[in-house]
Amino acid sequence: MTQTEPRVIRAPRGPNKTAKGWIQEAAKRMLMNNLDPEVAEHPEALVVYGGRGKAARNWEAFDRIVETLDRLENDETLLVQSGKPVAVFRTFLHAPRVLIANSNLVPHWATWEEFDRLDQAGLMMYGQMTAGSWIYIGTQGILQGTYETFAGAAKKHFGGSLKGTVTVTAGLGGMGGAQPLAVKLAGGVAICIEVDPTRTQKRLDTRYLDEVADSLADAIKKAEQYKAEGVARSIGVLGNAAELVPQLAEMNWTPDLITDQTSAHDPMWGYIPPVRPDEDAGRLRQDAPQEYRERAYAAMATHVRAILELQRRGAVAFDYGNNLRQRAFEAGVENAFDYPGFVPAFIRDSFCEGRGPFRWVALSGDPEDIYATDRALLELFPEDERLQSWLTYAAEQIAFQGLPARICWLGYKERDKAAKLFNDMVRDGRLKAPIVIGRDHLDAGSVASPYRETEAMQDGSDAVSDWPLLNFGVGIASGAAWMSFHHGGGVGLGFSQHSGLVALADGSEEAAERLSRCLTNDPGMGVIRHADAGYAHAIETAKERGIDLPSLGI
Ligand code: NAD
Repeated sequence: MTQTEPRVIRAPRGPNKTAKGWIQEAAKRMLMNNLDPEVAEHPEALVVYGGRGKAARNWEAFDRIVETLDRLENDETLLVQSGKPVAVFRTFLHAPRVLIANSNLVPHWATWEEFDRLDQAGLMMYGQMTAGSWIYIGTQGILQGTYETFAGAAKKHFGGSLKGTVTVTAGLGGMGGAQPLAVKLAGGVAICIEVDPTRTQKRLDTRYLDEVADSLADAIKKAEQYKAEGVARSIGVLGNAAELVPQLAEMNWTPDLITDQTSAHDPMWGYIPPVRPDEDAGRLRQDAPQEYRERAYAAMATHVRAILELQRRGAVAFDYGNNLRQRAFEAGVENAFDYPGFVPAFIRDSFCEGRGPFRWVALSGDPEDIYATDRALLELFPEDERLQSWLTYAAEQIAFQGLPARICWLGYKERDKAAKLFNDMVRDGRLKAPIVIGRDHLDAGSVASPYRETEAMQDGSDAVSDWPLLNFGVGIASGAAWMSFHHGGGVGLGFSQHSGLVALADGSEEAAERLSRCLTNDPGMGVIRHADAGYAHAIETAKERGIDLPSLGI
């Protein structure tokens, strides 16, 4: 192979392994799956999603991780520092096989400038959330969470359904690409602005987007027609959000909902400022980085001013976890935070029950294994209507990317039941190979992120990051397959710290014990974090489901 030919990575499938244990094999396959061209946004650069969220620091580090996982013993643990394998230590059977730390900087130095210096020196990589912790499963991974958010907005503002409403958003990347389908699932019409035609095409190809309009005016015309007919439909429109969102106000047209999921967390590599027809954004970034950054900030300020104006005219506005408000604030928009983040607006109640994104992947590579788990969960939770309708829809409509996978939201004392069921199904041959169980770092008790998951906490503890550190610790103590601790995911450097857990159901007794501990304690962190902050719903949940909370006398 010549130097210029891109490498194409695809995880091995099936019941035979080359590693010395199934956890090592699972970690290897999931690292590879993160870089599968069907899954990753820019696999040739090891970029999985979320701006420049990477799976490994460079190709050499990738090869070394794969080699090491294949030779790793069942009482050893591999340490990975920002995408580079740095040590193998003797631990013990029930310890995690891999411990990962990504993009962490001492708080005083926790800036993009310092990170970029280290990144360019080859000393770090940006791990986002599930990119560097090897549990990204493509856009479907965020679909259920995005659906939960839009369903939450529908419940709060539109009588339970988005039918007869139009949502405007931007960004059709790895995560943002779930928005058109999620709005549609919630019954509404979506207009999605995206600057890169390859991204709109990818969403069309994977059936997350229905059509692309010729212009903004065409998109509005189509949206109005679908709205009037009560049809759920998604429309893409090519253009820059910093130009098109202000045009909505100029055209005197107000959507029902407005949000955004461009990669605003990263002003240098994520948010793309408008450029003249004779300019190229990539070239500008390379040749004049300072000018690029200034133009990105100015564009984000314009973008947020337009959202605020549409809010003033009656649109329901919310921030979708990309730190756009903070960027605009830094660029002089003093009232940028006049619209709320999606967690306090729609999601916190779920977090109080430890409810969050539970995802699983079939290492067999056979979609039938996922369909079998879908059916089993439908039987296990017959009373959960949201779960019933989601899993039924997902089984019929979701196109898999990479290894077949599924996601649904489950809470405390639910995730451990689902995990046990999967382990039993592997043991008795109902599934053809082990199942990887993981979650996003965006979860009930695993993240401190004051402009996202922990925005506007009742006791003001938004920025306290003891909680994700305790989550990282409790996952290790409980016997996760691999654990990770990251900085800067979702909202960018300096704004978040978070932990990731992955477990494995291989049908063994060892797995049964690990799963029971991990999938109880991990969502339990969500309940206790919110109970400690004084949320009555979390305190009730802790009492009802029997969590031991010494400081609350429960
Ligand atoms: P991504 O980098 O894969 O995609 C971003 C997309 O935005 C790209 O397709 C890019 O072309 C487009 N874009 C950038 N600037 C634009 C502009 N000015 N106008 C129009 N399009 C523009 O990122 P992603 O994985 O989709 O994540 C998007 C953002 O959402 C990130 O900031 C991420 O941290 C955040 N996020 C939020 C959640 C959540 O649940 N709220 C979850 C994950 C990620």
